[in-house]
Amino acid sequence: MSTLSSGPARSYYGASANATPERETLAGETTADVCVIGGGFTGVSSALHLAERGYRVVLLESMQIGFGASGRNGGQIVNSYSRDMDVIADKYGEKTAEALGSMAFEGNRIIRERINTYGIDCDLKDGNLFAACTDKQYQGLIEHQALWSRYGHGELELMEGDAYRREIGSDRYVGALLDHAGGHLHPLNLVLGEAAALEGLGGRIYERSPVTQIIHGDPVEICTPSGKVRAKRVVVAGNAYQKGLLPALEGKSLPCGTQVVATAPLEAATARALLPFDRCVEDCNYLLDYYRLSADRRLIYGGGVNYGGRSPADIEGAIRPHLEATFPALRGVAIDYAWSGNFLLTLNRLPQFGRLNHNIYYAQGYSGHGVTATHLAGRLVAEALSGDAERFDAFADVPHAPFPGGRLFRVPATALGAWYYGLRDRLGW
Ligand SMILES: Cc1cc2nc3c(=O)[nH]c(=O)nc-3n(C[C@H](O)[C@H](O)[C@H](O)COP(=O)(O)OP(=O)(O)OC[C@H]3O[C@@H](n4cnc5c(N)ncnc54)[C@H](O)[C@@H]3O)c2cc1C
Repeated sequence: MSTLSSGPARSYYGASANATPERETLAGETTADVCVIGGGFTGVSSALHLAERGYRVVLLESMQIGFGASGRNGGQIVNSYSRDMDVIADKYGEKTAEALGSMAFEGNRIIRERINTYGIDCDLKDGNLFAACTDKQYQGLIEHQALWSRYGHGELELMEGDAYRREIGSDRYVGALLDHAGGHLHPLNLVLGEAAALEGLGGRIYERSPVTQIIHGDPVEICTPSGKVRAKRVVVAGNAYQKGLLPALEGKSLPCGTQVVATAPLEAATARALLPFDRCVEDCNYLLDYYRLSADRRLIYGGGVNYGGRSPADIEGAIRPHLEATFPALRGVAIDYAWSGNFLLTLNRLPQFGRLNHNIYYAQGYSGHGVTATHLAGRLVAEALSGDAERFDAFADVPHAPFPGGRLFRVPATALGAWYYGLRDRLGW
């Protein structure tokens, strides 16, 4: 066993990961019912659902389990998708909104079932807050509450004016919405626990086994530098880290980087003054800040977006001003860890599920809110591979347009759009 540093070297999660076994690299040839490519939440969740249904599963991960966004993220269990159901209804019709709305809170339930069933130790806490920086954003939260309750989610509590201060020790906001059913956790330990559960059911995981080629056919051949898997079906779950495995989709998504820091552990009284009930928070800005306490009372604070997925040289320098603006009492606080990770943005902010042909499936593009949607994806992939594709197809049928600007200009074009929306937030438009 090793206490590995999955994810980036300077991540708090890597440093506080639960012990996990050293895993082999794929060498030679093997067979499987299903080969899953990618050891993040999408891949591990899909593989675990499939193994629970009795499939022989092989999972190939280019680095280590949790190396990608799943082992680096804010750990916030945020319900639903990055696009709200009223926009989905306007663009794609009531039927699609009803179908997606009926699944919007399921990923969260799956995570909690996983933690209970497999006894995963990942610091689960209840409750997430959406914090409004402007009156317009607060109005949006009122609409958000009404909308979610229409889709059956009633565990939302609005906090008007100063009422939010009992939850967040900051002057930055004008109100908040508390989702009692949301929460936060140590994401790397969740995915490591799910990987262990997969192996407990006979699933095989190979690490440091990057897939270099998928040869279509029956069976499909999935090639790595030192081996090959012949599988009846394939699930591609490389998200923002897969390069070139899904060329047909490349223009329809954009890898984006976001950065996170973790302070040194805070005094108990200091931590209590910031977040008395230990919920996690994200603000309502287009380029949002998100933060929470770790189990050992560090403030984990994230924000910023780099279109194209490059990481800034000075992450602490980028995030510290946001952290100190939210909590001036932490001015000069020691930052122990600073890291960056990539998520995959789609133009309509909805996840991209589908098939390349009858036996190669993919799920990706959660657009920054993927902790719950990846867990839903795993269940839907398993349903679809077992012959019941209705719910998977509700997502697969949503059209995805390419980013404007083509291969060369989609990064600056998207950054310009984000700059405009960021400006609107700052001016309160
Ligand atoms: C810094 C950060 C903060 C975030 N915060 C939150 C949050 O608080 N709440 C929330 O809901 N969402 C958050 N997100 C988004 C969320 O983390 C992602 O949507 C989610 O983890 C995506 O999971 P995934 O399994 O699809 O992709 P990943 O976790 O990125 O996993 C993909 C895996 O595939 C592997 N891979 C890629 N190509 C290959 C190949 N060719 N062969 C083999 N393996 C391959 C990679 O190494 C990687 O391990 C955040 C994202 C980031 C980056």
